[in-house]
Amino acid sequence: MTNRTLASPGLLERLAAGPVICAEGYLFELERRGYIQAGAFVPEVVLEHPEKVYELHREFVHAGSDVVEAFTYYGHREKLRVIGKEELLEPLNRNALNIAAEVADESGTLLAGNICNTNIWVPEDKNTHAAARGMFEEQVGWAVDAGADMIIGETFCWTDEALVALDVIQASGKPSVITFALDADGLHDGADGVTACKRLADAGADVVGLNCSRGPATMLPVVRDIRAAVDCHVAALPVPYRTTPEHETFQLLEDTSCGCTPSTGSFPTALDPFVCNRYEMGEFAKEMFSAGVNYLGICCGAGPHHIRSMAEALGRRPPASRYSPDMSKHAYKGTDDNIPDYYKKLGEMYE
Ligand SMILES: [Zn+2]
Repeated sequence: MTNRTLASPGLLERLAAGPVICAEGYLFELERRGYIQAGAFVPEVVLEHPEKVYELHREFVHAGSDVVEAFTYYGHREKLRVIGKEELLEPLNRNALNIAAEVADESGTLLAGNICNTNIWVPEDKNTHAAARGMFEEQVGWAVDAGADMIIGETFCWTDEALVALDVIQASGKPSVITFALDADGLHDGADGVTACKRLADAGADVVGLNCSRGPATMLPVVRDIRAAVDCHVAALPVPYRTTPEHETFQLLEDTSCGCTPSTGSFPTALDPFVCNRYEMGEFAKEMFSAGVNYLGICCGAGPHHIRSMAEALGRRPPASRYSPDMSKHAYKGTDDNIPDYYKKLGEMYE
């Protein structure tokens, strides 16, 4: 147990006062940096290179994230079983929570515990439901021990699994954020995003919505519909990739200009040509917030520059804004008096 004092104001007070930004996407970013293996995507980095996890938490907070999400995503019992390291389950979770708590406390942000899809849920098999509940209970228990301010349950593809996750979070007394990863055809149980979120909202979730899978273009219209269908707070955390009506999720994106990737699809390690720029992510945040969506963030693929852009689009000025672009002092394209006229003239070739 920890003596951690809960952050004040808490999640619900912050949501009542304005938007809350939550940076996600730790798996992808630390994979790119060379500290997580694509495939199993288990966050062993929490134990092997904790300094990298501290660093990324701090970068996201510096860029405007209001939430430090403990990096326990895919650090659950089933994932550790798959890689043959179940003995790491508890130390991994406790370490991730302690790292996140330290960054939350030094920055005055919210510490979030995190649970997610278990990958064992089978609708007609009640044993898997009990096992999933057990996985949620142990992870939520560790988050409570660490003094979490809130619990995020994310990337669910089964409505009933998400309802069990919510039930476990509610039993902990912590505010709940539940988000679904919505495939092109809806969830695995056939539910659409609105129906699934409505069921979670009716069950008392504090925040419902979508995260992961969809980029801004294909997430925005669904989240608008969710906003219209529920009374609670709504979340939108897309992946920063240019998904389209033909390729609604990032799992479906294909880069036909390149013949050297391991498979025809670009997911998950060759999505680079589809990355949204920071301005697109800022526009997404602005549009969603004006539609009444006040829990905003970015999932797999997020970089601190995306988060800063979101924060600025919402009227914030996080510490990283000290370094936001100022092209007036560019060597060739600058307009500042200190830039020699000769170079300004040379700069015309870039126009
Ligand atoms: Zn994601």
